[in-house]
Amino acid sequence: MAGDGAVSGEGARAPLPEVALVTRDRRLAERYPGSFLEVKDVSGLEQPPLAGAHAMISCFGDNRLAAEHPEWVQVNAEGLRATREASFFDWDSLCPSRPEVQRRLLDRFEEAARAGVPGVRLDDVDYAREGFCRCDHCEAEYARARAARPELGWLEWRAGVLTDFTRRAVERIERAAPGPRPLLTFTLYPDPLPSHQFERFGVDLAAVAPLVDAFVVPLYDLAYTTTYWLETLAWDFLEAVEAPLLIELYALHVEEGRLAHAVEVAGRYADGLLFAYEYKPERIEREMELGREALERGRRERPGRHAGR
Ligand SMILES: [Zn+2]
Repeated sequence: MAGDGAVSGEGARAPLPEVALVTRDRRLAERYPGSFLEVKDVSGLEQPPLAGAHAMISCFGDNRLAAEHPEWVQVNAEGLRATREASFFDWDSLCPSRPEVQRRLLDRFEEAARAGVPGVRLDDVDYAREGFCRCDHCEAEYARARAARPELGWLEWRAGVLTDFTRRAVERIERAAPGPRPLLTFTLYPDPLPSHQFERFGVDLAAVAPLVDAFVVPLYDLAYTTTYWLETLAWDFLEAVEAPLLIELYALHVEEGRLAHAVEVAGRYADGLLFAYEYKPERIEREMELGREALERGRRERPGRHAGR
């Protein structure tokens, strides 16, 4: 197939969004085509996908399913369960290796692809923390894998579970889409060290990058009173990932001048900017405009791997 508009891989695909809104509000997603609509969030709440909006799906973060199926919750070797009752965790995390868990998610991806979405965004494709998951199912699956490959380390095996899941997602979406495959974006926890991504969250950046069209990194602050950390993280991610990078900023109630400065900084490093949870149309439109301007300047001036492009 011709690669018209494709950003990577085979087949014609829509171009990556330059600027877009992240929202739970269907009316806003309808008003601003190309928005990222949360069709399933970490609480487990769901709404149908919307043609014209990227479908954001929280994969292994799911409080509702964790309550219904406590046996599906991630657990470490000490028996600590990855739920909100434990320190460090803001939501409940399901075990990625469970076929029941994966099957439900793959069905959601298929539903989104059939609905004609421009993209599917995989959120929370990770383990809760280092040392997770050691549930009975993971132990049995790892033992089975090691019987075939005795040198297979546990960290490598668990990262492979997430890579295989991502590959299945791509295949399922590709098969179900009536037209060109929707874009696939993959959210990363905002820690740019590849060793942390691997050892802590089980994400093998180098293995996942060729499967996705872009990574999304949320760099949230409620006020953006300082931005040096934003610049550090953005630049580090630019160097760490071999795929286009979308940076997601928190926009709701952030003072306009502060947000403009954050946009300026992030636009220097990102291939696209997402604005989370803004709901006032005049502000949304202003933010999009600022975002486009910052990206344009960034393309001319940005350091790192894009230098000289
Ligand atoms: Zn498990």
